[in-house]
Amino acid sequence: MPVADYATYCEMLDRARTNRFAYPAINVTSLTTANAVLKGLAESRSDGIIQVSTGGGAFASGSAVKDMALGAISIAEHVHRAAARYPIYVALHTDHCQADKLDTYVLPLVAETERRRAAGFPNLFNSHMFDGSALPLDENLDLAVKLLERFAKSELILEIEAGVVGGEEDGVRAEANAKLYTTPEDTLEVARRLNGIGARYLLAATFGNVHGVYKPGSVKLKPSILKECQDAVAGTFGEAARFHLVFHGGSGSELHEIHEALDYGVVKMNIDTDTQYAFTRSIVRHMFMHYDGVLKVDGEVGDKKAYDPRTYLALAEGAMAERVKRAVAELRGTGTTLFKG
Ligand SMILES: [Zn+2]
Repeated sequence: MPVADYATYCEMLDRARTNRFAYPAINVTSLTTANAVLKGLAESRSDGIIQVSTGGGAFASGSAVKDMALGAISIAEHVHRAAARYPIYVALHTDHCQADKLDTYVLPLVAETERRRAAGFPNLFNSHMFDGSALPLDENLDLAVKLLERFAKSELILEIEAGVVGGEEDGVRAEANAKLYTTPEDTLEVARRLNGIGARYLLAATFGNVHGVYKPGSVKLKPSILKECQDAVAGTFGEAARFHLVFHGGSGSELHEIHEALDYGVVKMNIDTDTQYAFTRSIVRHMFMHYDGVLKVDGEVGDKKAYDPRTYLALAEGAMAERVKRAVAELRGTGTTLFKG
């Protein structure tokens, strides 16, 4: 199917919350990793989300260009074309964008969608994250309000973050004393500021989650915080105000904690570290197994088939697709596609 349109994406998110499953939102940086996600989702008969980070966009644009928005557009255009060959829906999203990068990342991408819509073409991306979690909450929400008002005109969905996800992503490290647990008061303020605008948003609330990989047990998650936030918002603004939550930094989490988070309204779970490892692991295996082929050892000529990048990148695509399938299964999403083939 082509990339999900606004109505389909909304239906995806609502169905996930009602049925207590979540979509993996997988970071991609290249055609190969994007294709891996499409393959994994299709084999799981699950819809999903492909996302591009600022660093991923810069990488995709080429090391001589390093234009975050350009690389994100290139990946999105590929996905728009390639997704049409798969029997599932995929949504396109951009990951963490701090306030100082809005002008060079999210806003050029929004402008690109606005241009496309004016010309009668579909949105480039379905949703964008603005990460104002490093700012005081009122400044974070001042910027979120402005963005959401603009997004509303183009059927774009905004993801915001209240509280800080620990660890490191794309070279941005959270402060050691960062606020790792969102409070119900914070999320009530989010609802108070954003719910009247008439556009949809996703909320990355933090409950001890940490970016990057940690050994099982070293991440102290408190999913019950999500329940407290949902209960507070439903109690104050009514059932319809319940959030669609996003889970960042889930690597190393116990499955029962992930499932508890799904029970409390997490509909999108970001995955990067685990798929990065799956991708690289398969390449390492190839290099070790075909050492004499990928290298020209002792005056020999190596094995062209072994060192052709397609050989190991195809293995990596397959390995990453398998990891995507595992993520879908863990998020209770297998077989849930909206696509009627
Ligand atoms: Zn994140």
